Amino acid sequence: MKYDTLVLGAGMVGVSCALHLQSRGRSVALLDRRAPGLETSYGNAGIIQREAIEPYPLPRGLGFLLSALGNQRIDVRYHAGAVLRLIGPLWSYFLNSGGSRYRSVSREYETLIAHSLETHADLMQAARAESLVAGQGYLTLFRSASELRDCFRNADQRARAGVQHVKLSGDDVAREEPGLEGRFAGAVRWTDPVAIRSPGDLVQAYARLFNERGGTVHLGDAMTLRRTDDGGWQVDTAQGPSLRADRVVVALGPWTLELTRRFGYTVPLIPKRGYHRHYVPLPGRPLHSTVIDGDHGFVVAPMKDGLRLTTGAELAWPQAPRTPGQVAAAERVARQAFPLGEPVEAEPWMGTRPCLPDMKPVFGPVPAVDRLWCAFGHGHQGFTLGPITGELLAAMMTGEAPRVAVEPFSPARFNQTGALKTQRI
Ligand SMILES: Cc1cc2nc3c(=O)[nH]c(=O)nc-3n(C[C@H](O)[C@H](O)[C@H](O)COP(=O)(O)OP(=O)(O)OC[C@H]3O[C@@H](n4cnc5c(N)ncnc54)[C@H](O)[C@@H]3O)c2cc1C
Repeated sequence: MKYDTLVLGAGMVGVSCALHLQSRGRSVALLDRRAPGLETSYGNAGIIQREAIEPYPLPRGLGFLLSALGNQRIDVRYHAGAVLRLIGPLWSYFLNSGGSRYRSVSREYETLIAHSLETHADLMQAARAESLVAGQGYLTLFRSASELRDCFRNADQRARAGVQHVKLSGDDVAREEPGLEGRFAGAVRWTDPVAIRSPGDLVQAYARLFNERGGTVHLGDAMTLRRTDDGGWQVDTAQGPSLRADRVVVALGPWTLELTRRFGYTVPLIPKRGYHRHYVPLPGRPLHSTVIDGDHGFVVAPMKDGLRLTTGAELAWPQAPRTPGQVAAAERVARQAFPLGEPVEAEPWMGTRPCLPDMKPVFGPVPAVDRLWCAFGHGHQGFTLGPITGELLAAMMTGEAPRVAVEPFSPARFNQTGALKTQRI
């Protein structure tokens, strides 16, 4: 079976790339080892984050760094071995997280985030998936008045870039979310984002659209990718004949480098693991919106399978043993305020956010490997950024002018050792 393009990985990013290539007339096959949308794109907090015009920086305050050393914080934890091996990329992340570098990264990041809502809306409408929208907007909630003031200031800055919000007092919070228990200083309601009740189902709806439009989804191991004699590519499927294509897009999320490394391309990926667990909602205490607990860095989202509690970052190798202390600690705090009943699953789900030291995703042609393209490294916002990434990559691959400057996201911004070219460390 011969195609123009083979997309490896059927998460939000891969499915979006496949759809946009298809809409430009390319014959496309999508390959994954599982059905679409069952990995990171399944397990996230389900927010299409239009407000996230600044990527997640590494907090640089001394107080934070000292308190993180004890490895008991709820928002950030680490495996010491991973931190030691990631010292170089983490230092680079630290440098990029403040001052003019952070401002410049954020300006570039915003050019993608700005298109997140409309690119999802187009696909959602075509896929008849609007019923997966749980609601408009979400809350960032604080017990601490000083943290709330900082968030208000940040919201005002973002407002200048067109991000809308409403400031809520403690009384407003109690009125809007009577199912919450305790006294809060207040919250910011970000009004642009869209909350999805089942992120994996949204990816599956987009994959069905790809099928309806004549695309094919195959099961198989992307690691079987190899060159053909005519300079194209070939990959094996789990059943049936192998697939051949002129070009390949590698969109394997946190597993991308396992494949590209074989062809000589690698970058310093910082894996930030995250956990989630669903809880049966307590009767008589509805939660209307998705809520980020701003003091502790976890999210509680009303979803199809219950109230989904998702954790912040755990710096650890994706394949290292689970350390679910972080989710247990988040659950203890969350139970004091949120209407969490019995857990739905026996064990929490775990996945990995693929993050780069400059906080930007990577998409475009893989340097020095003919006809190999990639799209990965979307960190905390890959669910949000999948569709615009797919559009821009498809434009590049078909010779169209992308409507956003794509150089800041180029795979060629790293040198051969994987360090950022412009960075002196
Ligand atoms: C706890 C948590 C909360 C989050 N919340 C949000 C949020 O609210 N909003 C947001 O925008 N983002 C959020 N994110 C980030 C977001 O989930 C990711 O950035 C995004 O899902 C990455 O998508 P992807 O398509 O690149 O990767 P994935 O969804 O992981 O897809 C990669 C695909 O590659 C396949 N694959 C891997 N290896 C092989 C192989 N050898 N052969 C074949 N197939 C293979 C996998 O099966 C998978 O389907 C969150 C992440 C976490 C962990």
